[in-house]
Amino acid sequence: MTAPAPAFNREALENILARRFFVAPSFEIYGGTAGLYDFGPPGTALLNNFIDTWRKHFVLEEDMLEVDSTILTPYEVLKTSGHVDRFCDWMVKDTVTGDIYRADHLVENVLEARLEADVRARMSALELEAKAKADKAAAAAAAAASGQAAAPAKKTKQKVEVAATKLDAKVRTAYEEILAQIDNYGGDGLARLIREHDIRTPEGNPVTAPVEFNLMFDTSVGPTGDVKAFLRPETAQGQFVNFAKLLEYNNGRMPFASASIGRSFRNEISPRNGLLRVREFLMAEIEHYVDPEDKSHPGFASHADVVLNLLPAKTQLAGSTTISHMKMGDAVKQGIIDNETLGYFLARVHLFLVKVGVNPTLLRFRQHMSNEMAHYACDCWDAELRTSYGWIECVGCADRSAYDLTRHSERTNKKLVVRQALAEPRISEKWTIVVNKKKFGPAFKRAAKDVEAALMALDELAVVAIKDALAKSGAAMVATPDGAQHKLDATLVTVERVTIKEHVREYTPNVIEPSFGVGRILSSLLEHTFYSRPEDAARGVLSLPPCMAPIKALIVPLSNNTAFSPLIHDLRQQLRRRGLATRVDDSASSIGKRYARNDELGTPFALTVDFQSVKDNTVTLRERDSTKQIREPVATIINLVDQLVNGETTWDQVIKKYKVFTEQEA
Ligand code: AMP
Repeated sequence: MTAPAPAFNREALENILARRFFVAPSFEIYGGTAGLYDFGPPGTALLNNFIDTWRKHFVLEEDMLEVDSTILTPYEVLKTSGHVDRFCDWMVKDTVTGDIYRADHLVENVLEARLEADVRARMSALELEAKAKADKAAAAAAAAASGQAAAPAKKTKQKVEVAATKLDAKVRTAYEEILAQIDNYGGDGLARLIREHDIRTPEGNPVTAPVEFNLMFDTSVGPTGDVKAFLRPETAQGQFVNFAKLLEYNNGRMPFASASIGRSFRNEISPRNGLLRVREFLMAEIEHYVDPEDKSHPGFASHADVVLNLLPAKTQLAGSTTISHMKMGDAVKQGIIDNETLGYFLARVHLFLVKVGVNPTLLRFRQHMSNEMAHYACDCWDAELRTSYGWIECVGCADRSAYDLTRHSERTNKKLVVRQALAEPRISEKWTIVVNKKKFGPAFKRAAKDVEAALMALDELAVVAIKDALAKSGAAMVATPDGAQHKLDATLVTVERVTIKEHVREYTPNVIEPSFGVGRILSSLLEHTFYSRPEDAARGVLSLPPCMAPIKALIVPLSNNTAFSPLIHDLRQQLRRRGLATRVDDSASSIGKRYARNDELGTPFALTVDFQSVKDNTVTLRERDSTKQIREPVATIINLVDQLVNGETTWDQVIKKYKVFTEQEA
């Protein structure tokens, strides 16, 4: 069974995020631009805390080599990586209105709407009444939380509405099977689904056949506009092109990883669902370089017992979405996860997501099916988070094999390889091309150097193909990186079996890549951590882990009496010195109201200053979720806040050690 949808009120959360300026549509006063968002002060702090935690968990922990490469990327780089030809989605057009839809999303929305309509048609009158009541109560709670009249949910063009209609059991099963593997359909498959299941737009109009749409934003560099370029769609290529320098910086040691945090751009066909599908977003990517003959990882054993929620490709192809809860080590041993390094990273990603506030029961790793896999990948698992919009891919974990380094190396003639000194020389026989220097130079003239380099870069299979072609027809062709084809014959080259004694092994590493979409993770974990106080639905709380909270400690004086000012100043100074963000709320509202305002910002701790504080230098420390307090000397409280934020202690440990305080002055 899939995990139940989180019981939470989306409208109430969205209201808080907008009202407290976590995030807002970019250029809103101009009407906004679809798929672009700005982060306000608490949203920016959340983003920075995410990056800080990510750096500590991955870069620092594993000595990764962080790079910061440019966003503007020349055409040639992305042509070589395959993005120019293949970084596409399928789109369809409403044949009447001309509106554009992403084909897989349209099929998904229509089939889901039909399944929901079927459920409604099967409900008894009583059940329908109960559902209507529950919907009304949820809307009222949302309105109360926002302090506004209940507004109907915004209707987007994407929303498909279907009147309650019973489906035949066979049709229902067919729809469920299609939805379980919706990511596995290419253009032809989607065209067939559209035809066979009469998929129409929300307006009820037919659509055109799916056509490919490249997601990259193009531009040009320089005043003449001759140098074609793109805004990068991922940070990965900026790391690959620097591979040789990174390996040298690492003193040639393998395995190692590079990492990068930066903006990427994708011209999404239909941006939607807030930060979940946008056109400009922050990515944090790791490229871990590993020996293709040895994908073991030194951290495997220590992470083998991490239990992962797995949805393997096989399960999805059987039309099911049942999750297997497995120890990572067992999944690797059983061949469900391809190798130790990939398994290790899935475990690290799991631990990281939980650290930043993701609910582990709403996290699963879904394996890609073969058609869905990116052009470069040989195994791929997405960390998906369950949200009110369904399961959302938040971290892609792919084994990109040697694809990117090989392609860039072939295109540039620069070696992107590891040279490993062998303890014992390796003796082998190999088909090798021998160039007849006397004739080769005059035959190819200025291109001779490039043709020879292209021949020397061929792998043994290609060399044998040349041998066979020469034997069969007396001629063979070879291409140089500029795309030109050159004709060879037996007077120019021969192919000979030679014995080779190698003291050094040269290989192109494989790359394991965890790729994080920061906005998607933040958006999902805001859903996971949001709740309303049981005693008052209008009081929303963001239960963010202290390391993620935009403000760590709220300072609340009993009133704005100037007697409190020196102590408040002192508390702020001490917390600031430890790098802990604070905020003072000395407004006239009641203490309870002031706590509530900061619960909405996710502030985990509040220090309350009263007249006793002025006398004996003690303050109370309140924790957001339990609402329990302790009262201790200022120095103790400052140390505790520091330790709580840095994960050196927990609130449970604190209240075990210190007496819970209940007699706050009012
Ligand atoms: P991909 O390279 O397509 O596997 O994407 C890597 C990660 O980037 C995904 O797991 C998402 O978290 C994030 N991502 C991709 N596209 C978008 C988008 N349009 N808006 C927000 N995040 C995205």
